[in-house]
Amino acid sequence: MTPKRMDFFHMVSLQHISTTRLPTLWGPFQMSLYLEAATAKEHVLLWMGEWNRPDKIPLVRIHSECLTGDVFGSLRCDCGQQLQDAMNSIAKEGYGAILYLRQEGRGIGLAAKMQAYSLQDAGMDTVEANLALGFSADERSFVVAAEIIKASGVSKVRLLTNNPAKVEALAEAGIEVVERVAIAPVLQKENLKYIRTKMEKMRHLISLDVVSDSERLPGEEG
Ligand SMILES: [Zn+2]
Repeated sequence: MTPKRMDFFHMVSLQHISTTRLPTLWGPFQMSLYLEAATAKEHVLLWMGEWNRPDKIPLVRIHSECLTGDVFGSLRCDCGQQLQDAMNSIAKEGYGAILYLRQEGRGIGLAAKMQAYSLQDAGMDTVEANLALGFSADERSFVVAAEIIKASGVSKVRLLTNNPAKVEALAEAGIEVVERVAIAPVLQKENLKYIRTKMEKMRHLISLDVVSDSERLPGEEG
């Protein structure tokens, strides 16, 4: 028997566990939980409105878990701000979705991320620190996100990202990124080196001009 084409392309096994209403500061979202069989990780689809109607092309954000940035408001990275921006943009449109993937620290885990922070305090940038710890610069995969988007019946998105790797990952999975919607970082003294490294070493498309007019880093001499 010839294997079905779908089986061949189905790269991860995901099980929908639960969906519930989640009122937030930005408006009423719905939260759906998916269990990834191979890793036992619980990934979240946070969505609003009729984001998967065929006549709509929703704003979508693929966001990797960052405990320090998302929860504690760490200024070492811009994750927390990006997540809040995405929720705000989706709420303004009234529909859209965030894939919240459980791959902390660009996939190296929380403990290694904290070790990497210590190396960064000793002078390394984020890529050099990951490499020194035996990881690649970015250990993440966006296959889970693509699978959840497809399982929701969505084939075209407007992706909220500065990272071309995410656009490429969705395209490879057969999802058309009709538009890439940039997220302007809020520059802080603590995250400037991190954001520059993302631009210079990780191909992130960030225009510092966009924010430079109002740029006056907290703590810097005027
Ligand atoms: Zn972060």
